[in-house]
Amino acid sequence: MNLKGSNSLTSDELFGQLSYDLNISDEKSLLTLTFLGSEKLEYNLTCPICLDIIFQPYSLRCGHIFCKSCVCLAASVLIIEGFKCANQDSKCPVCRESGVYAKSVCMSELGLLLQPK
Ligand SMILES: [Zn+2]
Ligand SMILES: [Zn+2]
Repeated sequence: MNLKGSNSLTSDELFGQLSYDLNISDEKSLLTLTFLGSEKLEYNLTCPICLDIIFQPYSLRCGHIFCKSCVCLAASVLIIEGFKCANQDSKCPVCRESGVYAKSVCMSELGLLLQPK
């Protein structure tokens, strides 16, 4: 699957105007975001925890992205409790930064992009 498009992901203030290039194949799943006139951001869309395509992506403050269920598991909270209940000392499974859960962002637009068509 190779989706190209231009979109305004307005509801997420992290983004603003950008174009994206979504590339999902067996070997790699990459989302390349290109901000207007500025740099490119490349997201690996494989969840570091379950090693599958990220489902209901959540971005931690450090910028790492996981499935919602995986990130809840990593933070030792129930999905219904949410990340406010996460221990301040809980660390990102990838970069080991602590306190990254409280400010995690639901990337719902990205989730929509990743849904099977
Ligand atoms: Zn996962
Ligand atoms: Zn991290």
